[in-house]
Amino acid sequence: MNALAAWLTARPYSQFHKSRYAYFKYDGFWFLVCVAVLVAMWLTGFQPLVGGPDWWYLAAAPALFFGFIWAHLLIHNATHGNFPKSINRVVGEVLGLLVVVRFASWDIIHMRHHKFSDDRVKDPHPNFPSFWKTVWHTIINVEKQLFQQYFDVWGDTPENRRREAWRARMSYGTNLVLVAVWYFLLGPWFFFLVFAPLNFGAGLFVIHFNWSTHNGERAKTIEDMHPVNLTSSYYQVANKFFCGIYAHKTHHDKPYLFNPATHSDYQADVAAVRAAQV
Ligand SMILES: [Zn+2]
Ligand SMILES: [Zn+2]
Repeated sequence: MNALAAWLTARPYSQFHKSRYAYFKYDGFWFLVCVAVLVAMWLTGFQPLVGGPDWWYLAAAPALFFGFIWAHLLIHNATHGNFPKSINRVVGEVLGLLVVVRFASWDIIHMRHHKFSDDRVKDPHPNFPSFWKTVWHTIINVEKQLFQQYFDVWGDTPENRRREAWRARMSYGTNLVLVAVWYFLLGPWFFFLVFAPLNFGAGLFVIHFNWSTHNGERAKTIEDMHPVNLTSSYYQVANKFFCGIYAHKTHHDKPYLFNPATHSDYQADVAAVRAAQV
């Protein structure tokens, strides 16, 4: 029971610092769970939950898209420990499976982003004035930064490089079996027409949020990239729908706030911009 309680409350980021095998074991655990689910589906002749294609997909898509974005927002809050201590891990793990990337990578990469934000080498997803260059760089850089994070903690030795190569294979393999679970659970039509594109779209939304809140819309050079509070009326409305994510400077200063847009720092920035317009 104690072991279960410890697992339920432990942060992947701190486990990563405690054991050089932690991430490999973490993905190995989810790999085995997914394989077990696939075998159970096969043995029981499981039929997908959703048939199709059907017109109701179109009606469900906006709500699902909103839900996927919120899954990322809640995982983000879980990485900062902003839920009650007993449920941060559970929220992060369950929603991490829904958006496929899983909690550990979100946690490890995001802590690195806060520690080294806008460092051109060490920030796992540094931004560029071009949004699409940022998208491309983010996608190819995350795995590289997981390697780097490992070497920063455990040393860059030939043995650790071999270990990390195996961890990466385990991570890719876990992605594959997890995606297979969603495919067989939802059925091919819903998976290809709704689940996969909306999940990918929500990922793009998150990359856009990170780009815009690191001054992407105004920056002319990479030196101009830094966390900003976005205060236009459009972003004030968006903050109401998305838990204050565009108050990102306030978030970097005070990551323990569940909704940084409600804090007086952000409100002061909004008031200053309003005053300047009058
Ligand atoms: Zn940031
Ligand atoms: Zn954060």
